[in-house]
Amino acid sequence: MTCEVCEILKNERLVVYRDGQIVVLHNPHPFNNGHLIITISSHKSIDEIDKSLFIELMGTAKKFTAILQRVYNPHGFNIGISLKPHVYIQLVPRWSGDVSFVTLFYNIKVVPETIEDSINRIKSAVREAWPLS
Ligand SMILES: [Zn+2]
Repeated sequence: MTCEVCEILKNERLVVYRDGQIVVLHNPHPFNNGHLIITISSHKSIDEIDKSLFIELMGTAKKFTAILQRVYNPHGFNIGISLKPHVYIQLVPRWSGDVSFVTLFYNIKVVPETIEDSINRIKSAVREAWPLS
């Protein structure tokens, strides 16, 4: 069985940020603008990584909450954490009323910005927030 996260990691254009083993990618099927996947570069589960790396993943989610707040000014955030087979965090900006009638009745999500535009805006905010990283 192929790993969905490993498949996404192969797509370099989705990468927003890298720091050591940590990789932040834009979700190729975003629920909202700025829907990010925060993961590690190797295919490992929660049982196979050190606690310090898991804490680093959570710290990266905290940092990107600030970045997305700056770029999109959402009303809130949701995170989802997958532990096996490949540990990753989904970080989703949320706006009140963001589940529209289109989503409810046609199961289609309208994302008003292209993934490329989202990636460029987020990368630009990262460069502004951490100019030397
Ligand atoms: Zn994997």
